[in-house]
Amino acid sequence: FVEAVSFGSVDIGKSEELAEPKLTKKAEEESIRRSNALEQDEIGALRDEIVDEQYLFDGVNLTETEKREIRYKKQIYDLVKKRSEEDDNGTEYRMPTAYDQEGGVNQEKRFAVAMERYRDQNAGDKMNPFAEQEAWEDHQIGKATLKFGSKDRNQISDDYKFVFEDQIEFIQDGMMDGVNFEEDSSAEFEKSMAESAFEKLQDDRKTLPVYPYRDALLQAVNDHQVLVIVGETGSGKTTQIPQYLHEGGYTKRGMIKSNLLLQIWRYLWSLGAGTAKSTLSFPEIGCTQPRRVAAMSVAARVSQEMGVKLGHEVGYSIRFEDCTSDKTVLKYMTDGMLLREFLGEPDLSSYSVVMVDEAHERTLSTDILFGLVKDISRFRPDLKLLISSATLDAEKFSDYFDSAPIFKIPGRRFPVEINYTKAPEADYLDAAIVTALQIHVTQPCDGDILIFFTGQEEIETAEEILKHRTRGLGTKIAELIICPIYANLPTELQAKIFEPTPEGARKVVLATNIAETSLTIDGIKYVIDPGFCKMKSYNPRTGMESLLVHPISKASANQRAGRSGRTGPGKCFRLYTAYNYYNDLEDNTVPEIQRTNLANVVLSLKSLGIHDLLNFDFMDPPPSEALLKALELLFALSALNKLGELTKVGRKMAEFPLDPMLSKMIVASEKYKCSDEVISIAAMLSIGSSIFYRPKDKQVHADNARMNFHTGNVGDHIALLKVYNSWRETNFSTQWCYENYIQVRSMKRARDIRDQLEGLLERVEIELTSNFSDLEAIKKAITSGYFPHSARMQKNGSYRTVKHPQTVYIHPSSGLAQALPRWVVYHELVLTSKEYMRQLYQRKCPREKAAQLMIRSLVQI
Ligand code: ADP
Ligand code: MG
Repeated sequence: FVEAVSFGSVDIGKSEELAEPKLTKKAEEESIRRSNALEQDEIGALRDEIVDEQYLFDGVNLTETEKREIRYKKQIYDLVKKRSEEDDNGTEYRMPTAYDQEGGVNQEKRFAVAMERYRDQNAGDKMNPFAEQEAWEDHQIGKATLKFGSKDRNQISDDYKFVFEDQIEFIQDGMMDGVNFEEDSSAEFEKSMAESAFEKLQDDRKTLPVYPYRDALLQAVNDHQVLVIVGETGSGKTTQIPQYLHEGGYTKRGMIKSNLLLQIWRYLWSLGAGTAKSTLSFPEIGCTQPRRVAAMSVAARVSQEMGVKLGHEVGYSIRFEDCTSDKTVLKYMTDGMLLREFLGEPDLSSYSVVMVDEAHERTLSTDILFGLVKDISRFRPDLKLLISSATLDAEKFSDYFDSAPIFKIPGRRFPVEINYTKAPEADYLDAAIVTALQIHVTQPCDGDILIFFTGQEEIETAEEILKHRTRGLGTKIAELIICPIYANLPTELQAKIFEPTPEGARKVVLATNIAETSLTIDGIKYVIDPGFCKMKSYNPRTGMESLLVHPISKASANQRAGRSGRTGPGKCFRLYTAYNYYNDLEDNTVPEIQRTNLANVVLSLKSLGIHDLLNFDFMDPPPSEALLKALELLFALSALNKLGELTKVGRKMAEFPLDPMLSKMIVASEKYKCSDEVISIAAMLSIGSSIFYRPKDKQVHADNARMNFHTGNVGDHIALLKVYNSWRETNFSTQWCYENYIQVRSMKRARDIRDQLEGLLERVEIELTSNFSDLEAIKKAITSGYFPHSARMQKNGSYRTVKHPQTVYIHPSSGLAQALPRWVVYHELVLTSKEYMRQLYQRKCPREKAAQLMIRSLVQI
């Protein structure tokens, strides 16, 4: 009640006068009197009451219109608040895969576990980004029992700003200066409105910051073999530069191969290497992206700009999906795909230009690419290399590429106001939603909102909650268009985020890190940054890899903030404190190569004939223990021999774009004559956890349908196989999927992947043989890849992993969750509220002696 006066308690309301009506002294005294008089339990009841009018406006000078406005906002807030309480009761929503949590979303708990993990990992480090969080939580717990008990006047008048329990207070702290923002392209914009879509696109291209530098850039590429390009996100690096090069003739046959001797040499070389294709087809421009969605979406955009069909002149190539043709001259691809192309074409002879884009992201594949392209650029002087980055640490790239020149594209950005929360937010998902609604209700509909989440699951939950809380508000608030974007989102839905927002509506984009630098969405004015992202981390000592939610770096935080200042002055709301920002966040993200399992990379490098890994030209070398662990694992999988050389098995494994353990299980299926089944399982495992779904109102049906595939405790792998085979028997029927609560989309993807794996089997000359009746044989094949993932039951239903003992549990979604077999082999560990094994099967281990032996052999690996 006391606090119920202001609706714009967040600083975002500043521009509006009415947003911050002040309490008069009289009102304040009255509030203190009333609060003191109240018993604890009465407070709860009163807090939700609608405040009586007189009290609301007492002593505040407002016009009738303003009062009406306030009343109206109050109503909306109440609705939103009520909805959010329903959510808190946990009856309404569950995380899509939250079988493990009773009572719905428990982000906080998940977060707490992640923090615990983080703390353990950093034990001994002086830095503890959560120390303040803990202190604050303690404080809140203390406060919860005291609530309005405090008699301190100042305290109360200070607190009045908290209109609702779940409202978030921000403190503005600093501005991020704009860069060249005076430039106004609105005249040009209006002009272009009248023209056709295609012409408009051409005009749009000319308004991008990179456009004035087109000729200079072409000249620089002509003059230098390697060029580092730096430019603010959205300046047009990814979409424009490859087009300029295409226009500049880099995709014309013979155009760039000026040196005759070199031509002859290349021709002879290509004959020897069997890659004569390159001399016949057009030279391509390849542009790598760290993320699949970015590669697809950018290729789609560029094909539009060039007025060609996607997959013809402009195409993309990502794992398990090749959308290119003989005509393709501009190819966008993931960095991982270019790495794989090295295997077939070690001099990249079909390319005239390779642009390693988003170099600042320093993904594992990008880092390896650096070493490889640097190497080939020495014997292919006609190959142009562009290394492009959105951040200013370009010197490092330049140094690495033998002092390559740096080409700077001056960016354009309006100033951005930075706001921090007053106190850390325990549940960032909810805080982000509340903030978005606050912005939507209190700010004019003049710009869209972008929220950064850590992954698909979170985005889906947020989408559901947002829909729920705005449902039925109808015309009370402006329309809020919710646009999720993450890697697995179907392509047709991805396009939605780029559609212009209709007049009078507002778009809220729920994105993963992808919107940080890879994709530019125009029209964003508000950025909400919870300060987290999912990051791989790897413990080379135990060989355990995990994908955990981590605090982002300062560099990332600033990139995120910058997204709001593209089309006008922006505002960024950080859901952490200024103290967190300045003291707890690292300056830069640690390159992936230093925190990941290297088995895959080592296998690829070995198959490229690079043996001396310790002396490979890494920009930042990985920890040597991580390299050794990778060698050890590959040796255990018999991909390498005692001398560390690639074996026949290893060579076959390298052909599969999969984790080495997965490739090994496929290669081993030859021996057990069940390759048909094993590739189906591999395809289903690659899809992840999105195969079954449980609608809220039909959970029992869905669970029953799912358990049908588990009859006989066959284990999750065989259950997945049964799902796939049953679907195949119905001739891939959509209806069948509906009836069995299975996601058609995931199944279609599994089918695609399976088809490709079948093609790869042929390439490594493994016959496609089916042996469905022999489940043991299938399990044996899987075990040849996954034996390091064995675990044994402990007394209390928990398990202990055999290699590097660790306590883990069976994931509740597993068909074996009730059976609790003595020995299991699992596919992966996931950390939610506990460390869970997901996708597992039972393994026979008849005698204790054999078990001991197995343990010993595993420990020796
Ligand atoms: P950079 O790579 O420098 O960050 P981009 O070339 O990705 O910049 O983007 C330049 C501009 O192209 C963006 O401002 C955006 O307006 C537009 N754009 C990029 N991708 C798309 C897309 N998929 N759909 C619509 N517009 C896009
Ligand atoms: Mg880009």
